[in-house]
Amino acid sequence: MPGVTCALFPVIGMFILTSGRTWSSDGSVILMDQEALNTGLKHGEMGLNESKGNMYSWVTHTWNTVKGACPHGCSYCYMKRFGKQSELHFDKKELETNLGCDNVIFVGSSCDMFAKDIPENWIIRTLFHAQEYPNNYLYQTKNPARLIEFAHELFYLDRVCTTIETNRFYPKIMGNTPKPEERATAFSKYPFNRFLTIEPVMDFDIDEMIELVKLCNPVQVNIGADSGNNHLPEPSREKLLTFIGTLSEFTQIDQKRNLDRLIKTW
Ligand code: SF4
Repeated sequence: MPGVTCALFPVIGMFILTSGRTWSSDGSVILMDQEALNTGLKHGEMGLNESKGNMYSWVTHTWNTVKGACPHGCSYCYMKRFGKQSELHFDKKELETNLGCDNVIFVGSSCDMFAKDIPENWIIRTLFHAQEYPNNYLYQTKNPARLIEFAHELFYLDRVCTTIETNRFYPKIMGNTPKPEERATAFSKYPFNRFLTIEPVMDFDIDEMIELVKLCNPVQVNIGADSGNNHLPEPSREKLLTFIGTLSEFTQIDQKRNLDRLIKTW
């Protein structure tokens, strides 16, 4: 795990802003290249991607600085429909994007920016650029333990989300992601607004699954089904309805339209 602690973040932030230094993943201080610093501070002409409305109704745009094959390697990843992914990389040009204001921007929608193999330097540069613009940002990850390292007053990450598709671990489907229980335990420690997404929902054990959601204590839960025909194990209609009914007693539910396939009888 990278060597930055929350307590060190104000110091590190001042280093980056004033001296051109940053923290390497082994905890030592290194110099950032001047181009990286310059691009991080310029307001260029690149545009934001408008959200197609397939994720959250309240997200207006997406923005990705980390691109290429996501280290998590979920079998159902929607990015796979676009063919072979490029190698994982940081797109410095995205630091020229004018993020505007009053948007709700999903940062890292095409690759999990907080996967353990993502260099810390990439994350810090992304977060610094984002906070230059007065927007709301959504940071979603299947590795909330890493995200929490950045949850500090220096980076006010006002909306964070983790995915828990099921309480079970299906290794062939979930690839290199932390197990759902590990995600929930780490996520429960996050100090700001927590959102939870259960998409694509996979077959679960109802009592254990409810406990995981309660542990996360989310302000909102988004539930959706596989829309990519990935042949995932899915819960029965009855189990799903019982689950949703129980969740609605203690949190707000946003039911995706693609869930109709599992719950409507027509
Ligand atoms: S974590 Fe998200 S972006 Fe990464 S492989 Fe899984 S579904 Fe795709």
